[in-house]
Amino acid sequence: MKFTIKIFLAIALLNFGIATGQNGDPVIESIVKEATQNSHLEKYAHHLLDVIGPRLVGTPELKKSHDWIVETYKALGIEARNEQWGEWRGWQRGITHIDMVSPRTQSLIGMQLAWSPSTTDKGVSGGVAIIPDFENKAAFESWLPSVKGKFVMSMMKQPTGRPDYNWEEWATEESFANMKNERDSLTSAWSKNLSRIGYNYGSYRLNAEGFRKIEEAGAVGVLSSRWSKGFGANRIFNSYSKTIPTIDLRLEDYTMLYRMVENGTEPVINLVSKSKELGNVPTFNTIGEIKGSEKPNEYVMLSAHLDTWDGATGATDNGTGTIVMMEAMRLLKKFYPNPKRTILVGHWSSEEQGLNGSRAFVEDHPDIVNNLQALFNQDNGTGRVTTIDGSGFLYSYEFINRWLEPVPRSIKQHIETNFPGMPTGGGSDHSSFLAAEAPGFRLSSLSWNYNNYTWHTNIDTYDKIVFDDVRNNAILTAILAYMASEDNKTFPREKRVMPISRRTGKQAEWPTKRLPNRKGGQD
Ligand SMILES: [Zn+2]
Repeated sequence: MKFTIKIFLAIALLNFGIATGQNGDPVIESIVKEATQNSHLEKYAHHLLDVIGPRLVGTPELKKSHDWIVETYKALGIEARNEQWGEWRGWQRGITHIDMVSPRTQSLIGMQLAWSPSTTDKGVSGGVAIIPDFENKAAFESWLPSVKGKFVMSMMKQPTGRPDYNWEEWATEESFANMKNERDSLTSAWSKNLSRIGYNYGSYRLNAEGFRKIEEAGAVGVLSSRWSKGFGANRIFNSYSKTIPTIDLRLEDYTMLYRMVENGTEPVINLVSKSKELGNVPTFNTIGEIKGSEKPNEYVMLSAHLDTWDGATGATDNGTGTIVMMEAMRLLKKFYPNPKRTILVGHWSSEEQGLNGSRAFVEDHPDIVNNLQALFNQDNGTGRVTTIDGSGFLYSYEFINRWLEPVPRSIKQHIETNFPGMPTGGGSDHSSFLAAEAPGFRLSSLSWNYNNYTWHTNIDTYDKIVFDDVRNNAILTAILAYMASEDNKTFPREKRVMPISRRTGKQAEWPTKRLPNRKGGQD
């Protein structure tokens, strides 16, 4: 009996060891245990997403989130500061209420786009106009007076609100093919009409000049609908109009209004859409620091952008990356308070307008960039990390494999590595460092339908977070930072021979540095 219990206990302990990555390193064991048993992720997510909310560059909410991270780090004993790198047009989102008041009453689901001009408290009412087919620019211009007092629908009508994966599951092959044919011909007709009009931005909407014409003609608002090909999900970017509001309506409501106009029913809508212009405001990065004890002038850096688009609370873009880095810093401070190299974290702003915060940091801190051992960036959603790419560095194989070695199998088993990999020219903030030939790595995670449902959409919210996956990433990041900091060797910057493109016959080039926009939103 005794013997059996002993064997049972031994097996149980062995299993525990595998599950928690027990490998004899007390720092790693403590990191795993604390992250698992006393996670702060849920608390951080709640404050960042539910209390502070969307974090568009130039808004008071983004500044609030920078300040909150500084306070949170200070309370943990981590040095932290906001570093100003530029300024942006200040703006604050207010309410958007939109109702159809004729031929019947229905509240519509929609919201103003970022930097949209405000209405009065009373709002505006008007009919709805769709953009008909025109032979040429002159015909469009002679139609313009008819939009006076109306809302202009600025996007094509989608034939279905069901995502393709739903059609694939349920439709007959024939009806799926029919739908796709219909959508192709509507898309092609829309794009041809736009190019005949001439005031076109690519093939899917009017350009800035086209919207100016509509404003000058006395329209009271612009309606838009940028479907992201998932149920109820639209992407919310910046306003096209300068003097009248632009409102994104969910596909369901947008297409209903469109059908009414097409069929001769004349819907009337009432819109109250409030926002505040705040002049130019400073923009910041938040930097946290745990000073190195042996090599304080060499750096390991954690990285995630803090800013968001503002259609929702930016839970997966990039709330999850943000809380992963915060939690990793908490774990490192607690169990590895005197690192060999200095550990930094960068919470960047204005990533969404072109990596501006991180590009500014690279320009302003050559001392750090030149002595960077490694930077780990996460920015593609809530999923567990599944790919680490060597970013084109010849010796990434040796170093990243060494750093991954003690990572618990339960985490490592999901990860594929790719060496030497390729440097990226954009996409997220590690690219700003790669352009300076500094070792920046992207922790690429599983999609969880990121593209259709949460990337820059109106439904990127707390409920979409998968905390077990985020916890997995916080542990991984903390261990990678610990290992990179402890490494006896300095990461060598020798680059791979870049491949020859089969298409062009030319050799690919290492991405080059691009300057940040330090005074944004002025046009
Ligand atoms: Zn992002």
